[in-house]
Amino acid sequence: MSRAVLITGASRGIGRAAAIAFAERGDRVAVHHRDNATLAEKLVADLPGSGHVVVGADLADPDAVRTMVDEAAQALGGIDVLVNNAGIFAPHRITEVSYEQWQAGWRRTVDVNLIGAANVTYCAVQHMKSGGAIVNVSSRGAFRGEPGQPGYGATKAGLNAMGQSLAVSLGPLGIHVVTVAPGFVDTDMATESLRTRGPELRGQSPFNRIAQPEEIAAAIVWFASPEAQWASGTVVDLNGASYLRT
Ligand code: NAD
Repeated sequence: MSRAVLITGASRGIGRAAAIAFAERGDRVAVHHRDNATLAEKLVADLPGSGHVVVGADLADPDAVRTMVDEAAQALGGIDVLVNNAGIFAPHRITEVSYEQWQAGWRRTVDVNLIGAANVTYCAVQHMKSGGAIVNVSSRGAFRGEPGQPGYGATKAGLNAMGQSLAVSLGPLGIHVVTVAPGFVDTDMATESLRTRGPELRGQSPFNRIAQPEEIAAAIVWFASPEAQWASGTVVDLNGASYLRT
């Protein structure tokens, strides 16, 4: 059965890989982007199958979020699956930034990663008329202390908690909620970390590499499937056995 899937931040990286993976299994995908319509439109044109659409919004803008989700639902004929993937990683080291930079870093990160995802979720649930699934993309940064990531880690820990609470609230509606928490993934977001700490980050896994976005996408697709309903409420650590050695 073809499902209607809304993926935030899907023009590149993990979201893009997820859009391809859902389309390959026959689903109709709303590819959300913030400000890169050209990239999103090219992806939609290249996706297998039909019925895919492009929708845009800055997730820090609640009104734009509601309009974007409603447009996606109208174009797809409802929403069965939501992937809260969009996020920003804006490092701000407490010992190196001004008070103003500190506040700005926290505010923007919370507005996009946490409140943005919460607002998308609220709006999408209004269109989930016959059950469905929500997959949140969190991060290992929710569990591990990394320098310069206090705001990022806090928003991802918040996403984990949001997923657990919503799993309880939405279960009676036949909606399951799973949160995946990858470590470093080979996307634009990790470019700078890989440039400065590549061997160290790869060496944290016994496979001596970091994840490819397609590997995270495959997990997202499975956890969004009806077969994964019993995983509802979990936070799944996708880290290639990293961090297990002392
Ligand atoms: P990415 O930077 O390629 O993708 C992030 C996406 O979020 C982009 O499409 C971007 O446009 C969108 N986005 C950012 N701010 C937005 C806003 N204000 N409004 C709307 N959209 C916005 O990086 P990615 O690695 O593909 O990241 C996807 C998710 O995976 C993020 O939530 C990220 O925190 C998480 N994650 C990434 C890594 C990693 O190492 N790459 C590790 C763990 C978790």
